[in-house]
Amino acid sequence: MKFEDYRISDEIKNSLSKLGFRKPTDIQFKAIPPIMKGEDVLAIAQTGTGKTAAFAIPVLDRLQFSKNRRRDDGIKCVVMVPTRELALQITEVFNEIGQGTRVNTFSVFGGVEQGPQIAKLEEGIDILVATPGRLFDLVSQGYIKLNRVEVLILDEADHMLDLGFIHDIRQLISKLPRQRQTLFFSATINEKIKELAYSLVNKPVRIQISPKDPVAKNVDHSVMYVDMDDKRFFLERVVNENPDKKILAFVRTKVRAERVVAAMDRVGIRAISIHGGKEQKDRTEVMRQFKKGEVKLLIATDVSARGIDIPSVDYVVNYDLPEQPENYVHRVGRTGRGTEKGIAISFCAPEEKPILEEIQEYLTKEIKVLTVDKEDYEATIDFSAAATYDWKSLIKEAEETEEKIKASKAKKAKAKAKKKK
Ligand code: ADP
Ligand code: MG
Repeated sequence: MKFEDYRISDEIKNSLSKLGFRKPTDIQFKAIPPIMKGEDVLAIAQTGTGKTAAFAIPVLDRLQFSKNRRRDDGIKCVVMVPTRELALQITEVFNEIGQGTRVNTFSVFGGVEQGPQIAKLEEGIDILVATPGRLFDLVSQGYIKLNRVEVLILDEADHMLDLGFIHDIRQLISKLPRQRQTLFFSATINEKIKELAYSLVNKPVRIQISPKDPVAKNVDHSVMYVDMDDKRFFLERVVNENPDKKILAFVRTKVRAERVVAAMDRVGIRAISIHGGKEQKDRTEVMRQFKKGEVKLLIATDVSARGIDIPSVDYVVNYDLPEQPENYVHRVGRTGRGTEKGIAISFCAPEEKPILEEIQEYLTKEIKVLTVDKEDYEATIDFSAAATYDWKSLIKEAEETEEKIKASKAKKAKAKAKKKK
């Protein structure tokens, strides 16, 4: 079935065709009809399979229809997401698919001043994409009213219902009308969170695609055993062997992100970083540069593991293994999106073996091992620009010593000659 054959508005069909979306993906095919019927849906489908449009298309269609009949009276749909970057990205998808519909979508998130957001909200909006903290603040201050909300969407639902967010989410849900449609989307979910999700909705339709292997089929992923201190040489090698490719490397902490950027800088590789310790305007600028391909290597913490859709990220490197096993799925899922293929490689140090085992248990399968023989391993370190750099300085040092010796010899010889005279 093609989008042309769907009972959705011509405006939406037009924008889908402009975006090059001809046929629905599996999750879109399965989720769009029940959402259009107004049912609650819990949808689990792998990373990069088009979950955003799976909820954006039916919601836009419904709001366009009701907007044509009724006057504006507040926010009709709230989409909650875990990060600011994801809020911007999802807003963009709604605006692209919704262009020509008069339905407007806007996002609010923390880390920036709230003034401009409030001004925009006052113009009246239909769909609000938000991170829970800022949404909660604006609701408490009375700038946002949720009493007209017809649809609540939690993207990255398992994460939104997890410890860090559940408190805000519960508070926000208590302010929504009881009569509403609730949609949960994610690539991963566990039994506990599933139960919690069910407790928040009415007899949801459950849609799960390829539950056996949570890693998207377009991602070729493997693990390589590398000592902690040698990881930088291997990252350098991946970059040098793939000079035109966009590479996203995940590290455990903000501090490590900065260290890896510095280590790459020392060997002449330009990298930028994104993590929770950066100002929002810098985070936005970094994302822009990486999206455009102005910088080809992005070093990120897990703030960028979920939902981010950057075209043609060819490689994901788990420079450090993720501490939460499901984040393995989300991180490697930043490549191989839509119809693209991607490669993911994880560097596992001996001390990370237990984490690797936990990840494999979560995936219910072993990750393919890329074996590096001893020679190759040593060559990776020897060929590093850092090693050449060290050679150079050693040679320079040797030359200098030699010159010093020569000079002192000459001096002595001169002195001797003087004495003789
Ligand atoms: P998910 O949320 O499942 O990880 P996204 O919604 O971010 O995936 O979509 C992944 C990519 O697939 C995006 O770049 C999007 O533009 C593309 N895409 C989505 N639906 C379609 C479609 N029906 N046809 C072609 N490309 C699509
Ligand atoms: Mg998504």
